[in-house]
Amino acid sequence: MKEISCKLLVIGAGPGGYVCAIRAGQLGVDTVIVEAGKPGGTCLNVGCIPSKALIHAAEEYEKIRHMADGRSPLGISLQGPSVDLAATIAWKDGIVGRLNSGVSGLLRKARVKIVQGRAAFRDGKTVEVQTETGMQVIRAEMVVIATGSKPVELPFLPFGGPVISSTEALSLTSLPKKLVVVGGGYIGLELGTAFAKLGSEVTIVEAAAQVLPQYDGELVRPVQKRLQQLGVRVMTGAKAKGLASGGDALLVETSDGKEQKLAADKILVTVGRRPNTNMAGLDGLDLDRSGPFLRIDDQCRTSMRGVFAIGDITGEPMLAHRAMAQGEMVAEIASGLKRGWDKRCIPAVCFTDPEILSAGLSPDEARRNGVEVRVGQFPFSANGRAMTVLAEDGFVRVVARADNNVVLGLQAVGAGVSELASAFALAIEMGARVEDIAATVHAHPTRGEGLQEAALKTLGHALHI
Ligand code: FAD
Ligand code: NAD
Repeated sequence: MKEISCKLLVIGAGPGGYVCAIRAGQLGVDTVIVEAGKPGGTCLNVGCIPSKALIHAAEEYEKIRHMADGRSPLGISLQGPSVDLAATIAWKDGIVGRLNSGVSGLLRKARVKIVQGRAAFRDGKTVEVQTETGMQVIRAEMVVIATGSKPVELPFLPFGGPVISSTEALSLTSLPKKLVVVGGGYIGLELGTAFAKLGSEVTIVEAAAQVLPQYDGELVRPVQKRLQQLGVRVMTGAKAKGLASGGDALLVETSDGKEQKLAADKILVTVGRRPNTNMAGLDGLDLDRSGPFLRIDDQCRTSMRGVFAIGDITGEPMLAHRAMAQGEMVAEIASGLKRGWDKRCIPAVCFTDPEILSAGLSPDEARRNGVEVRVGQFPFSANGRAMTVLAEDGFVRVVARADNNVVLGLQAVGAGVSELASAFALAIEMGARVEDIAATVHAHPTRGEGLQEAALKTLGHALHI
């Protein structure tokens, strides 16, 4: 048995853990990171990156199919496209592999020691890791738990056979003819749309009254319209009940209380993710919970001295960039710097078609907080650049305090709006007023001009509508 000591031990090398370790290393903190799987965690291996690769491949294929059908208004035509899903997945795996090596390289550059294996707590400051070369004991002055999350499994629809999670969906090498998706949230809609574009017959079963219930109806409407165009069947107010005997169909209770059988080659269950709190020895520590998650304060400290938690294990929003921001902050605290969570917003993007972007408060959220707001909205149908790329569906929306025009929220729905996330977050983080956005020269012709126009609209004098 080998024993090592360090100042900072990070458990889990997902976006939270690896960013924390890199930053701590940069600051000269003696750091060890333990990872049971591959560097990069859910996000890099089976989440953000592979899903966006598949979404891109599906978009490209759908565009070409559209042209082959003779439906392209651009005057382009071609014949007989096909997709080799195994090749697509191999391309995606290549990207993941490059990024795995990239993360390991960055950790080494920051002089972080990487231990490969599953960590188990002996006590709050000591873990055991079964490595390829034997048991390793690691003692640390401070510990960061960054073990992430995993897909929720429905007890009446356990994973296995035709029932798959996003992890398996991202590695399919042949296209399911009929795909039923249970859960019309982030993953269900992102992947459901991608498979529909690749040629699967897709049905989405969503328990709430609307798909993407976390967003307001106005933002979701263009996505619903596009799902319809793609031939995706959306069943809302519907609940999955279990696998039909024979395993080739899903039993569903529809909104009117009737039971329906949906034939399926694969059933993709995407009904949320739950924190990885099942790490051996974790229950023996005195860590307060917040529901299923670890409770943290505004420095990501848990209820145990010297033990921090970051990322998905600490709750919503379960997003990679939140985990990274927490990781960076905790590294700086561990190095002795004064830091606290002082972010004004965490932008969220849903990579549907079209994409949805939200930063800060929606009009309803602001009103529920008792704030009087003014709202300005600018449609992409009035934006020249959007017209030239056939992306006229959607809009940009500004939500500002009615009394002083401070921007409280920015939302958009439209093709490629994810790239506006930086501008949205920066405006809110810098405490911008509507006038600041309106007075900024926006390059022409870009879809970003929609932000300036929405700001002008909020002030009552939009120029292009
Ligand atoms: P994770 O990334 O889950 O990493 C935790 C790591 O800890 C894992 O590598 C795991 O192997 C390791 N680990 C666990 N237990 C132990 C142990 N005992 N010992 C050692 N190691 C251990 N977010 C976005 O912001 N944008 C997106 O576009 C996006 N798309 C997504 C698409 C899909 C299909 C999925 C599933 C998720 C997506 N997410 C997205 C969410 C994002 O992946 C997570 O929010 C993010 O990965 C959380 O980071 P984390 O560091 O907390 O945990
Ligand atoms: P989600 O919370 O986004 O959506 C789950 C959906 O399933 C909800 O709409 C819910 O109403 C529905 N549902 C729950 N139980 C059901 C049932 N029995 N039958 C039918 N519908 C049911 O969860 P997800 O899509 O699994 O994603 C998990 C998390 O991963 C997200 O919350 C997000 O934090 C993260 N993620 C982010 C991105 C991104 O940032 N683009 C992409 C993918 C995942």
